[in-house]
This record gives sequence, C-alpha cells and structure tokens, in this order.
Amino acid sequence: MKIDTNKFEKKLKDELNLVETELKTVARKNPENKNDWQAIPDDTEKDSPDVNEAADVIEEFGNNAGIADQLEIRLNEIKDALARIKDGTYGMCGVCGEEIPENRLEANPAANTCIEHAK
Ligand SMILES: [Zn+2]
Repeated sequence: MKIDTNKFEKKLKDELNLVETELKTVARKNPENKNDWQAIPDDTEKDSPDVNEAADVIEEFGNNAGIADQLEIRLNEIKDALARIKDGTYGMCGVCGEEIPENRLEANPAANTCIEHAK
C-alpha cells in the first residue's frame, strides 16, 4: 500500500484525543457501557424555583446532548479508521474497494469511502 498510514494514524490519534477531551466537557461515559457517552445536564440551577431558569437548564441539556451526539459519532468514525489501519484496509473505499485519494484522507483522515461513494 502506498498510503503512509503512520502519518494518518498520528492525525487520527491526535483528533481522537481532542474529541475525547471535548466529549468529557459535555458527557460522561456510561458506567455500564464504556462505548456509550451520556450528556451531562448543567444542573447548577436545578433546584431553582424559577421556571425560566429551569427551562434554561433543559435547553442546556439539549445542547449538551446534541454536542455529545456529534462528538460520539466522530469518535466512532475515528476509532473505525484506526481499526482499518490495524487490519490493513485503511484508505480503501468501504463500498467499491477502490483506493481513496490521499487528498481526501488529508481533508478527513476518518473517511472510509471514495468521493463517489461519500454520502
Ligand atoms: Zn467507492
């Protein structure tokens, strides 16, 4: 394989650390399922009798959950890409098996399809 997987493995691991760090600010790992993250509600105002503030808490929880979902999806994409480096299928389209252009991998090291088969 002509793709320099070491270079992309490093990029992926850097991004993995970054995404995990961000994820920890909005979510915590589910103690029963280490691959699942649960959004942390911002509960500083939880006991407030003020309805508006309670609504803010709900909104904040919604935001955290939304951000956590996005980060979790990205985290899984990165983990999948790292797994493909290990099993030697990294850089190949998951649909047609063609090589993914290196400039596409530069833009998104977790890409697992060629441009034609990108969603
Ligand atoms: Zn393809």
